[in-house]
Amino acid sequence: MIDDLPPLRQVIAAHGLSARKALGQNFLLDLNLTAKIARQAGDLRGCDVLEIGPGPGGLTRALLAGGARKVLAVEKDARCIPALEEIAAACPGRLEIVQGDALEIDAMAHLSAPVRIVANLPYNVGTELLVRWLDPPAWPPFWTSLTLMFQREVAERIVAKPGSKAYGRLSILAQWRCEARIAMSLPPGAFTPPPKVASAVVHLAALPAPRYPADAAILNRVVATAFNQRRKMLRAALKGLAPDIEERLASVGIAPTERAERVPLDRFCALARTFGGSV
Ligand code: SAM
Repeated sequence: MIDDLPPLRQVIAAHGLSARKALGQNFLLDLNLTAKIARQAGDLRGCDVLEIGPGPGGLTRALLAGGARKVLAVEKDARCIPALEEIAAACPGRLEIVQGDALEIDAMAHLSAPVRIVANLPYNVGTELLVRWLDPPAWPPFWTSLTLMFQREVAERIVAKPGSKAYGRLSILAQWRCEARIAMSLPPGAFTPPPKVASAVVHLAALPAPRYPADAAILNRVVATAFNQRRKMLRAALKGLAPDIEERLASVGIAPTERAERVPLDRFCALARTFGGSV
């Protein structure tokens, strides 16, 4: 039984899991808190869950206790594996542990739909994983929702609206094909050791289809170019994309003197559509 497992501080002491900064190790040891994070992912019964960076397994326990059909836990640090195996033994057949780099593993080889991704991510690879999950070769993706811990500042970029300083590429990438919201905020003291900055859990639910039509590669290119020089007027920032960029902007109702951070998602999609299939 999961409830019979020893407290996490004891697990950490028994397995010598002193936190390593290079692996982004800030552990959650309060099982009430990990249960609360797992609840943000919704009803896990009948779902497979992909967890990146389980560490000593606090969130892993909560996902299993929350009724996940199966959890695939991908952990880079070999020191954590024996601790995770104790959890697997308490839930026969429901926890698969893979030791390796989350950036390299093909998760779907181990999972069946529906899949939810839930993780207290290592900060050093968190944004890269998020961008990969949000920009798969085809939509809908292999997952139905992402419930992820980020530095508060990254979480704010994901949910930001036009006109705010945090609004940018990540906001558009996330909101184009997902419902995105900040589900929880956590102070540094919630972690062992405490990180320097506050954190937040973001919940992203995949929409069945993009909110507005556009080719993903073109939209990415237009948005990346626009925000690369976010202080410039768009007619200048985007002039490398097409000689007639002023006309294209005007044709979709964007003033050529506007700046990227004030342009809403639907207008970026309309602008991307003026490029048809290539840019
Ligand atoms: N989930 C645990 C918790 O909440 O206490 C640990 C979270 S800690 C912020 C991040 C975890 O990710 C660490 O256990 C670390 O070893 C692991 N990690 C770091 N880089 C990784 C990678 N590239 N692939 C898989 N796991 C990684």
